[in-house]
Amino acid sequence: MADVQKLGVIGAGLMGNGIAHVAALAGIPVALVDVNPAALEKALGTITKNLERQTTRGNIPDGAKEAALARITTGTEYAAFADCDLVIEAATENEEIKKKIFASLCPTLKPGAMIASNTSSIPITRLGAATDRPGRFIGMHFFNPVPMMKLVEVIRGLATEDATAAAVTALAERMGKTVVAAADYPGFVVNRILCPMLNEAIFALMEGVGDVRSIDEGMKLGANHPMGPLELSDFVGLDTLYSVLKVLHDGLGDPKYRPCPLLAKYVEAGWLGRKSGKGFYDYSTTPPTPTR
Ligand code: NAD
Repeated sequence: MADVQKLGVIGAGLMGNGIAHVAALAGIPVALVDVNPAALEKALGTITKNLERQTTRGNIPDGAKEAALARITTGTEYAAFADCDLVIEAATENEEIKKKIFASLCPTLKPGAMIASNTSSIPITRLGAATDRPGRFIGMHFFNPVPMMKLVEVIRGLATEDATAAAVTALAERMGKTVVAAADYPGFVVNRILCPMLNEAIFALMEGVGDVRSIDEGMKLGANHPMGPLELSDFVGLDTLYSVLKVLHDGLGDPKYRPCPLLAKYVEAGWLGRKSGKGFYDYSTTPPTPTR
């Protein structure tokens, strides 16, 4: 399988803009497509700001920002992917939306082109079966924020060919990432281990084992974690954490994955963490203060 010469990215949200940024900076031309023109405009603004920050900090050489931006084209039509070797789908986490995207996308691709999904929770085998090329379909799970986070989990579906896995691994490495292989089971590797730990911290809070400070300081100082689990839950988004736990619970059928009732309550209250201004911490103060 030849190198990826041109990359397509579907979805210009949080993850899509990060993937486009890192690929363009690595010298790869990128076609970035979103149904929503406002999302494309916002993504270009975010990429520009993030590249400026990298330049100011001396992390990238002068001129790299302009060169990377010149490699990114944006649009609302999948026809832009006609000459892409790989399209990474990073659209909204909804199986029906993703399947509709693949139905429209496949006829626009050249025969050997590959498709990767950045899904956090939908089985890769099932998504691949909804395309005309399950052998060239794979999971490529980036982490947020993409320019900062080193890891990509590569997840092969049942039908994924060796050449597809080798090509996306090589691409991720060209993008400066480290690849780990994960099997196609709910949560893959990182969320399978991380989310139950975050959920357990919320149970500990609900049961009064510790307050927010003692749980977060305890895990930072006692387990050498860079962020406390409640702080990290707020960063991930409590609605996202809740939905990943439901996927683990439904997909693996083990009660140990049941979402903590206190987490459900926060989500119902609209306390979603950093993005809503309030979760286990209140972000209207500096520094943020625990809400209980
Ligand atoms: P987001 O909501 O920020 O962005 C999704 C984008 O997809 C939006 O701009 C939306 O307009 C666009 N979109 C929706 N339907 C489309 C269509 N038919 N064609 C083209 N674009 C379409 O979401 P996100 O957080 O960037 O997540 C994207 C994917 O990445 C999801 O599958 C998610 O599970 C996965 N993921 C997210 C994270 C995270 O921390 N946010 C981490 C790893 C993986």
